[in-house]
Amino acid sequence: MKHKELARHQVRQAITCARCSSENLSQFSAEMNFHFPGHEGLTEPTVWVFPQVTVCLDCGYAAFSIPESELQRLADGCRRIRAKAA
Ligand SMILES: [Zn+2]
Repeated sequence: MKHKELARHQVRQAITCARCSSENLSQFSAEMNFHFPGHEGLTEPTVWVFPQVTVCLDCGYAAFSIPESELQRLADGCRRIRAKAA
């Protein structure tokens, strides 16, 4: 997807809040460090994600997508944790 098309796509996605229908939304660049759940998750390396987060400035609802490479790392970590717990 070209840069302009991506920008239009993001604007179209964020017209109203999914929780309260407000149009008072804004996009932020964010950094999140995902920790794996449970005792088994303590030994899994955390996964950094740098998403664009759409935030409703009226109710606080926030939405973002995790890029494919980081999503795969989260899925792989969860698979290893389940294998350890079994
Ligand atoms: Zn809202």
